[in-house]
Amino acid sequence: MSSEKPFFRWRLKARETRLLAYLLVVLAVAAWKFIPRPWHPTLTLAAPHHTIYSTASPEQTQATAHALELLYVAYSNRLGSVNGFRRTHLQLQIKLFKDRAELRRVNPGLGWAEAFYREPFCRAYFAADENNPYHWMLHEAVHQLNHEVAHLQLAQWLEEGLAQYYSASRLTASELKVGRVDLNTYPVWWIDEIATSAELEENLRNGSVIPLRAILAGRGGPGMKQNFNLYYLHWWSLTHFIFESEKYRSRALVLVEKGGGLSAFEAVIGPVEPVQVEWHGYVRRLKSSLGRNDLGFSKGNGDPAPARSADASANTATPPAQPQGR
Ligand SMILES: [Zn+2]
Repeated sequence: MSSEKPFFRWRLKARETRLLAYLLVVLAVAAWKFIPRPWHPTLTLAAPHHTIYSTASPEQTQATAHALELLYVAYSNRLGSVNGFRRTHLQLQIKLFKDRAELRRVNPGLGWAEAFYREPFCRAYFAADENNPYHWMLHEAVHQLNHEVAHLQLAQWLEEGLAQYYSASRLTASELKVGRVDLNTYPVWWIDEIATSAELEENLRNGSVIPLRAILAGRGGPGMKQNFNLYYLHWWSLTHFIFESEKYRSRALVLVEKGGGLSAFEAVIGPVEPVQVEWHGYVRRLKSSLGRNDLGFSKGNGDPAPARSADASANTATPPAQPQGR
C-alpha cells in the first residue's frame, strides 16, 4: 500500500499552474468581452404573436409591435403552406433596446452586427434616427419565424435572403408590401456596389458580381469579412428575383422547402449559369429603377450609409457574437 494520497498525483507543477492561470485570464477576458450585461426592460408588451421586452418608449414599442405583426401576416400569407409551418406556437420573444448604444453595451462583442437572433430572443434597437426604424428588428424576426414557426432549414443565402426580402420591403400603416423595395433599409442602401457595369462578364472580372455558384454553395467566393455587404446584396437580390419574377415565383416555396442549396436550386430553378444571366439582368433593372429615387439613409442630413450590416448571419449563427445569427 502506498503512503501517497491519491490526490498527490494531481498536484500541479509550477509550469502547469502558470498555464492554468493564463487560461483563466484568457477565459475571463473572453467572458468580459462576450457575456451579456444585465438588462432590465422598463416595459413588457403582449402583442398578438409576440412578447416584447423593451427599454424604448411606449410609443416606439407599440409601433414596433405593429410592424412585427404586419410582418407576421405577410410572412404567413406567403409561407404558411410550407410543410413545417405551424400556426400554433409559443409567443415569439423580442428584446427591444432603446438605442444602438444600449444594445452594444448589453451585448458586447457584436462586431459589425446591428441586431441578432439567438433563440428564443430577437434583439434589436429602435433606430429612431433612421427613416425606417424597424428594419433591423424585422430582419431578425424573419430568422425567428423561419426557425420557430416555419421550421425551415435553409442555406445561408436563402436564410439571409428571406430576412432581407421582408425587412427591405415597404412598410405602410396597414401592410408590409412585400417585394416593394424600401431604399432606407440594409442592404439596399449599398446597391451601388453590386453589378457596377452593364456586362456580366465585366462584373465577374471586377468583383462586383460573385458567381452565383459560389453564393448557392456557400463557398468558393471572395472573403466574407471583407465583402459582407456585397454578399448581403447577392442574397437579397437573388431571393427577390426568385420570389418576384414571373418565371420563378411559383417555384419559390418548393425551393424553400428543399433548403435552397446548390443541388436543390438546380433541380427546382434550373442550371446555375443561365439563371445567373437572368438574375444579373434583373439586378441591373432593379438598380436602374431604384436609382431614380433618393437613396438617403438618415432622416436629418442624408448622411452616407454607415459601414455596418444587419445581424450579419455571421454573428447570429455562430455564438458568441452571432451576427450571422439566427
Ligand atoms: Zn440575418
